[in-house]
Amino acid sequence: WRKENNIMCEDLKKNEKRAIPHPICKFEDVFDHYPEVRDSVKKAGFSRPTPIQSQAWPIILKGIDLIGIAQTGTGKTLVYLIPGFIHLDLQPVAREKRSGPGMLVLTPTRELAIQIESECKKYTYGDTKSICIYGGRERRDQIEHVTKGVDIVIATPGTLSDLQMNDFIRLNSITYLLLDEADKMLDVGIESQIMKILSDIRPDRQTVMTSATWPDAVRRLSQKYLKDPMIVYIGTLHL
Ligand code: ADP
Ligand code: MG
Repeated sequence: WRKENNIMCEDLKKNEKRAIPHPICKFEDVFDHYPEVRDSVKKAGFSRPTPIQSQAWPIILKGIDLIGIAQTGTGKTLVYLIPGFIHLDLQPVAREKRSGPGMLVLTPTRELAIQIESECKKYTYGDTKSICIYGGRERRDQIEHVTKGVDIVIATPGTLSDLQMNDFIRLNSITYLLLDEADKMLDVGIESQIMKILSDIRPDRQTVMTSATWPDAVRRLSQKYLKDPMIVYIGTLHL
């Protein structure tokens, strides 16, 4: 399966090598224990996981940090959203007891944030609440939402760090963090805002980073914010 689909996977943990989980070729192989998830991907009419999904899902579900590199249009949004829903489900701290959201998705542009939120609403289940935060929307509207116990925040770094600075949002209960389209994040030069946001997020979180390319700057970002990750790359990569 790996060879056929050009999947490359490596453990970046130094010294102690862990077993890399087998890729899953069918949705049932991984989501049978999560009927809501299985039903929502079925409803979408997808016949099988994309290569990046097939290798990334079993790794993320083990609680391991992941870097996922694959070109645009290969389903990277669901790579992190679906394990995120499961993560929230399995969190011992119920929403009422959390002081804020449990999952954060950082993405470079407003357009991407809107797109991710609509995927999120399409596949989420139960009464999971999400909010999309980006520049240009009524701030009061956003703040009202933020204070109403959401589970998932999807945000552009600039607007979120503004809210954070003004104490409108608490990030200290986030345990699952997503850096989406990391290469584009660097394009727009927002690393200092990311740094500010991440300084408030617990170090024992799980972090997933996706990107279409793997330049030095993205590599440096991953070294800074991910802990002992595995990397999955579709295509050829020289590490
Ligand atoms: P990327 O972030 O890699 O650019 P997206 O997550 O935006 O890609 O996904 C591109 C499209 O592929 C979306 O419309 C998404 O719903 C669809 N998609 C996701 N997973 C699958 C799958 N397993 N099979 C078919 N289509 C999928
Ligand atoms: Mg994407």
